[in-house]
Amino acid sequence: MLTSKNYKFWFCTGSQDLYGDECLAHVAEHAKIIVGKLNESGLLPYEVVWKPTLITNELIRKTFNEANGDEECAGVITWMHTFSPAKSWIIGLQEYRKPLLHLHTQFNEEIPYDTIDMDFMNENQSAHGDREYGHIVSRMGIERKVIVGHWSDEVVQKRIGSWMRTAVGVIESSHIRVMRVADNMRNVAVTEGDKVEAQLKFGWEIDTYPVNEIAESVDAVSEADTKALVDEYYDKYDILLEGRAPEEFRRHVAVQAQIELGFERFLEAKNYHAIVTHFGDLGSLKQLPGLAIQRLMEKGYGFGAEGDWKVAAMVRLMKIMTEGMKDAKGTSMLEDYTYNFVKGKEGILQAHMLEICPTIAEGPISIKCQPLSMGDREDPARLVFTSKEGKGVATSLVDLGNRFRLIINDVDCKKNEKPMPKLPVATNFWEPQPNLYTGAEAWILAGGAHHTAFSYDLTAEQMGDWANAMGIEAVYIDKDTTIREFKKDLMLGNIFYK
Ligand code: MN
Repeated sequence: MLTSKNYKFWFCTGSQDLYGDECLAHVAEHAKIIVGKLNESGLLPYEVVWKPTLITNELIRKTFNEANGDEECAGVITWMHTFSPAKSWIIGLQEYRKPLLHLHTQFNEEIPYDTIDMDFMNENQSAHGDREYGHIVSRMGIERKVIVGHWSDEVVQKRIGSWMRTAVGVIESSHIRVMRVADNMRNVAVTEGDKVEAQLKFGWEIDTYPVNEIAESVDAVSEADTKALVDEYYDKYDILLEGRAPEEFRRHVAVQAQIELGFERFLEAKNYHAIVTHFGDLGSLKQLPGLAIQRLMEKGYGFGAEGDWKVAAMVRLMKIMTEGMKDAKGTSMLEDYTYNFVKGKEGILQAHMLEICPTIAEGPISIKCQPLSMGDREDPARLVFTSKEGKGVATSLVDLGNRFRLIINDVDCKKNEKPMPKLPVATNFWEPQPNLYTGAEAWILAGGAHHTAFSYDLTAEQMGDWANAMGIEAVYIDKDTTIREFKKDLMLGNIFYK
């Protein structure tokens, strides 16, 4: 399910014909070497493609428009090897619609003190030419990333790789389609939002289907298919009967297997990448989708509970942004549930009724069957686990009535201090940066939700850059956050985004 395109990034070098053909030959040769080494670095998730040096208005315009039209091109990387008069870039940049990276580098790493002359200076003047180019991009108010440093530096290569994932997020955002099989939970504010504005800003298509249409798809799943999937579950996960009769337990699990297959087929047939459910609106479904949704999230679908389509789309987006990442630690919807206020052990227990993605799990994953304590259906089967330690990013996209705001919080995930044998749900436990007190205060001041889209594998920089590219406000809660400064951020946002 988690298949995006075989994206590529174009490497476009700027120059001009003032310095002669030999210089231009060097420019092209140097750019090819850089592209080759970037691709060999193993640090870029997508391929960089060399393009002929851009030296005229016509070629710049043509190249940017070709980039717009090329479905595999997810962005353009620009670099001015020599001086490139920036008025030549205006029309091309005006017409360009994809992510833009300005790689402010130069071919040589060190000044060649013994041999440097004016020819060398004219050929290697990114420090000069990139300022001219940067000026026009700023004057035009175009959103772009600027990365500074020598192209052979791993730090620079990693930053390019990180930006590529943001760029793919920007491109893929407009392909996200969310299926709502229930409305938002009655009277809940924070999961609401303007779906038309979400399509305008993010490109998301958010549609509703009667829950019984998807329930019919579940009913249509054969017994044989269901049994095969239950067998797979029993192979893969620990079965925790906890006193239930094995046959009755297996019957409950089979309900989820049938839901997983029925939902997946329905989503595939109608080309949706994310789904929301609501425990109070289940139609003829026998159980709240628990295990089934957990497995769909693992396959790359976005999910939001209680009709939370913003979280569903964000989880899908973040899964796409981390696609193919080596040693990925996982991405999931989570919900702030309960605090630990003991000094030195502060944090927030993250969970949900059922629906946490097993990609974030550490250690064994078990199936349990327990009452839900909400709604009126039979006890749903769910996957239960604890989560990995380490840094992560928790995001909340909120609709403030006149605009969207993305709240981005760096969090430190920790082991649960003790087992919680009576808690029949998957959990994570984190301390928000800079600490629980300031982090939660800032989150609440920003209007952040209880549901979050969380990933171990993305950074605040990537999520903030994505928000900037979408033209929405991003606020950061991290190690440097103080409430006084954070309130100023919110005040600035209130003025700027009105
Ligand atoms: Mn919830």
